[in-house]
Amino acid sequence: TKFSELKLNPKVLKAIDDAGYETPTPIQAGAIPPALEGRDVLGIAQTGTGKTASFTLPMLSLLARGRARARMPRSLVLCPTRELAAQVAENFDTYSKYLKLTKALLIGGVSFKEQDTLIDKGVDVLIATPGRLLDHFERGKLILSDVKVMVVDEADRMLDMGFIPDIERIFGLTPFTRQTLFFSATMAPEIERITNTFLSAPERIEV
Ligand code: AMP
Repeated sequence: TKFSELKLNPKVLKAIDDAGYETPTPIQAGAIPPALEGRDVLGIAQTGTGKTASFTLPMLSLLARGRARARMPRSLVLCPTRELAAQVAENFDTYSKYLKLTKALLIGGVSFKEQDTLIDKGVDVLIATPGRLLDHFERGKLILSDVKVMVVDEADRMLDMGFIPDIERIFGLTPFTRQTLFFSATMAPEIERITNTFLSAPERIEV
């Protein structure tokens, strides 16, 4: 498979070309087509397999049209740690350089005020750790009813860190009709349970 065969937005393809990527990795070749069709994806993949681009690229293509309203993000990426969230945000910047999309990173250690300002302007892509996202929600600053795509990255680490109840709560705050892209390096019984509950007929890709 070549990237050009994947029906990604041309501006996303151009950014991939600039990054020097030639061929999609197996997780990308497996996850991008069903994601672009609007299907849920369950990706079982470790770091280093190119999993970040496997959800970022279809998301950007899906979000390329449309505009976010104040306090109502159009997509959500949940990461277990600040470091991973910051890394995912960098990936979004790289691949979205030819698109006019807005992004906010909600992680601890940054003032609420700064994050509020971004949320108030409207964000297409909200990248967050679960606790910080719920903090904003509790403060009444965030409305999740316009979320069209939700990503859970490194779910096995979320489990290790005790974030599964937060993740379940966040799933419950987003529309039932959202698309879900869910990634984990391993499939513990608790992870299997969550995916059975919140994913709808997912395409399962294991690399
Ligand atoms: P990840 O598994 O998402 O952490 O990605 C691992 C590394 O592979 C990152 O540095 C990416 O920039 C790089 N990468 C991802 N996809 C590709 C690709 N198709 N071709 C070349 N490098 C890639």
